[in-house]
Amino acid sequence: MSAKRQADFEPVDQSDYLEFVALGGGNEVGRSCHIINYRGKTVMLDAGVHPALNGLSALPFYDDYDLSTVDILLISHFHLDHAASLPYVMTHTDFKGRVFMTHPTKAIYRWLLSDYVRVSAISSNDASTLYTDADLNASFERIEAIDYHSTTEVEGIKFTAYHAGHVLGAAMYFIEIGGIKILFTGDYSREEDRHLNIAEVPTERPDILITESTYGTSTHQPRIEKETRLLNLITKTIVNGGRCLLPVFSLGNAQELLLILDEYWQNHPDLDGIPVFYASSLARKCLAVYQTYINMMNDSIRKKFRDDRSNPFQFKHIRSLKNLERFDDLGPCVMVASPGMLQNGVSRELLERWAPEAKNALILTGYSVDGTLAKQILNEPSEFSSIAGGGIKVPRRLYVEEISFAAHVDYKQNSEFIDLVNASNIILVHGEQTNMGRLKSALLSKYKDLRQTENEVKVFNPRNSEELRLPFRGVKVAKVMGSLAAKPPMDGQILSGILVQKNFEMSVMAADDLKEFSGLTTSSVIQRQSITVEVSAELIKFHLEQMFGTLKDATVGSGLGYTIMDSVNVFWKPKSIVIEWEGNMLNDAIADSVLAILLSVESSPMSVKISSKPSHCKANFNRPEKIERVLVFLDSQFGSAVEPMENPDDGVYINIDGHIASVNFRNMDVICSYEPLRSRVTHVLDHAVDTILPFDFGKEESDESYESSSSITPIKEERDS
Ligand SMILES: [Zn+2]
Repeated sequence: MSAKRQADFEPVDQSDYLEFVALGGGNEVGRSCHIINYRGKTVMLDAGVHPALNGLSALPFYDDYDLSTVDILLISHFHLDHAASLPYVMTHTDFKGRVFMTHPTKAIYRWLLSDYVRVSAISSNDASTLYTDADLNASFERIEAIDYHSTTEVEGIKFTAYHAGHVLGAAMYFIEIGGIKILFTGDYSREEDRHLNIAEVPTERPDILITESTYGTSTHQPRIEKETRLLNLITKTIVNGGRCLLPVFSLGNAQELLLILDEYWQNHPDLDGIPVFYASSLARKCLAVYQTYINMMNDSIRKKFRDDRSNPFQFKHIRSLKNLERFDDLGPCVMVASPGMLQNGVSRELLERWAPEAKNALILTGYSVDGTLAKQILNEPSEFSSIAGGGIKVPRRLYVEEISFAAHVDYKQNSEFIDLVNASNIILVHGEQTNMGRLKSALLSKYKDLRQTENEVKVFNPRNSEELRLPFRGVKVAKVMGSLAAKPPMDGQILSGILVQKNFEMSVMAADDLKEFSGLTTSSVIQRQSITVEVSAELIKFHLEQMFGTLKDATVGSGLGYTIMDSVNVFWKPKSIVIEWEGNMLNDAIADSVLAILLSVESSPMSVKISSKPSHCKANFNRPEKIERVLVFLDSQFGSAVEPMENPDDGVYINIDGHIASVNFRNMDVICSYEPLRSRVTHVLDHAVDTILPFDFGKEESDESYESSSSITPIKEERDS
């Protein structure tokens, strides 16, 4: 099975569409969750929560998709907006798929999420807690950890994780479903920092790129400039006797900032008396994880580790604070504290404490999501609501500045990466509406010269729950196997066999080869009917021979028996006649005719005549019955492709893939300009006529019909298999 590049065409088959739905992260930052469905396989990407919302409303729109159909769920990285609703999905929905993430992500995920459960239990009422610690533990065991660069295959879906930069363990996923290739960036960065490698560009070209658009068309300040700006602002604040608050997400960005601060303090002994704190309950636990995975970080941090023979994340100038109980707030200091968007916790408590004084500074280094206090305070309001509630306002006089160290790409980095990846379909996710819209326009105008060409680049920015359908013409190739493959194929030859599809690989084989080549076991259904007929065996044989020609003797011992058309056996038992055949469409039709003859044989006028003078007889069917029986054959072969003519007695049309064959019931002629179809229909029709109506069909006969007499009754039907 292979697939051609997408082109402008009207797909005939529904399975030629790839469906994409953002259940979260569509025109927003937060609660990332995307669904890809192609050829019956479903991949889910990320399962986050929205940082500005609480309880169930923080979830992606899970009710809008049947999660029981998801085959695999890939988590890009441990941030809450990408991973924090995973335990909910695994324990509170119909989801039954397999879940994958990288080893470091899995290690950190556990600590982060138990902290998330603890914090949400404190800051909200029980009803809005999405899941418990027990749910987290129960689902954790089912998460499968993967290595970068190794390809995993599940149900025919292949995927490979690549480094995404951003945070330790962050992955981009290169996914292949039925020949269509998709790259999902997750959150990614292309600027080398103090500890992480930049995102890789996979060597293969995908058909679809799903990329983040957090920073839209904006440009990051060069790294050296922003580090200088940060350190100058901190120094100035401290010198003026103020305190610096740096809200951060507890892991990832925090480690990067701490590396910068530790190095600066190392090089500036004059700052020795000024404490730098890192307030995170997870600091100690995650230190071990960061040490374990140093081999996945960049050269400079690995070199530092080798040279110093110590953990570079074991900082010399930074003190860890588990909580504020042990914090003596005595004067100038630098406080790196979570959470990053000031929703609750330590960073919020310190902000409310320090906001009224103008000498203090708030430095926002991460991305601030719409609806959070971090975003709101960037507008420098004169006051803001206290987390204590009750309408309490906190005056804001402290200095606020945003110096972004968020490990996301800016426009230049994103568009360079998009060029390198070279996909013809780009789906934007993880961006506020305005940023995403600007990025879309910028990309469309960048690629405008390719419009209406083979290399056209399409850019999509779907909203949450809006279904995006991309047409891909799949070329379906089936491999011929077993006895069918014994002879070399000839031009125009039509093969008939059983089409076996396993994931995306199709093969055609003879029924007898099924077991050997597909591993499928086969069984046949033997149909058996008993009827009582009070006429002589000789008379029945006569009628059967009239209809089917010579019968084969199948007598067993004293029990008389015949085989009709090599497929239906008729046996005489003491009080009944048993008809036995292997169930399939053709045999069933023959058995039907046999049964019809047996049921009508007694009342047939022929039966009266026969005793005196055997002669040629007419078929036991009137014309409508004949047509009906021919239709049984045609329907079994062509199904819904059979359409009656205006006058159904005249015949039918058989419409297959746009080729039309007309079958005339008056003379059994088949007219079709497409020879393969004509010969197939003719073959089926000949068979039907031979089987059921070996007499002149064209000649109109009387509409005489025969009632079966009360002495002939079907008594039972049974099935063996
Ligand atoms: Zn992230």
